[in-house]
Amino acid sequence: MICTTEQIVNLDECPQKLRFSIDYEPVRVTLATALYKSLAEGLKSGLPAQAESKFMQLAAFPGLAVQGLNVYEIARHHSKLLEILTTYLLGGAKEKWHRPPTQRLAGDLLYRPQSYVETGKLRRVVLASSWSADRELEERNSWRSIGDIVAMERPMIVNVIVIGQLRNGFRNSFWTSALSHPQNRQIRFQGAALNATGKWNPIRRENSVLDTLEWLRLMQQDNCFESLVHSFEIPIPEDSERVHTQLQAMLREANALPTGNLYRRRSSCYRAFYPCQFANVCPKGFETPPETLFQLKK
Ligand code: SF4
Repeated sequence: MICTTEQIVNLDECPQKLRFSIDYEPVRVTLATALYKSLAEGLKSGLPAQAESKFMQLAAFPGLAVQGLNVYEIARHHSKLLEILTTYLLGGAKEKWHRPPTQRLAGDLLYRPQSYVETGKLRRVVLASSWSADRELEERNSWRSIGDIVAMERPMIVNVIVIGQLRNGFRNSFWTSALSHPQNRQIRFQGAALNATGKWNPIRRENSVLDTLEWLRLMQQDNCFESLVHSFEIPIPEDSERVHTQLQAMLREANALPTGNLYRRRSSCYRAFYPCQFANVCPKGFETPPETLFQLKK
């Protein structure tokens, strides 16, 4: 089997998680998965509108794993978030981003990196609800970074985009929310001007007619990116040969993974942005995930 970066991460987090994720898929897609899938569509096509429409497609089928009556509003909110993030990441040139080809690490051990490749380097985007030095350390040491770096023998640039905490299905940050002046309709985000000129009304990106590039320009004018965007480079590790050997061992383990109930690593069940998709059912113990939540992969 060809192992992806994500499968190696799953194995590292919990062998049971890898087993389930090979055999089953959720009936409805989680917001985090839909965000990354749609962002990839936008970046690989070089078209922000593609990210937006992919998210709406996933929201229609198989549907989002969110509760409530306002699922359409939640989907629209996130699709507009994706459109603006993709526009920002593509920059003015709007060049397509490319995935590296599948790598043969040794013998029949095949590995498919899921970062992006650009001249001499790899690139990865992390969508985070908040950012901290601890979280950076986690990303620097994750197999999502290190696996691709040693497989491709290239350093990696990580672009972190803070998209805010999820509250009632919405993520309020400067990407999605601004203040509008009641008289002249001027849009601002932060700064002294807001206090000096009366009461401003909150406005969501999805309800604004402002062009995406203009929204981004105004974010820049109000120094919004400082708190929302972080980038750092991860060099090829000095012991890359040893890490390469470890990666090969993990690929062998993934290829020979037994079926049925495996060792469960419970510390991985409830992570902040990426809780295990089986967390609602697995720790209670089950042989087969309930059909209302998961289906066998075809
Ligand atoms: S819920 Fe926890 S124990 Fe179960 S598969 Fe996920 S990470 Fe492993």
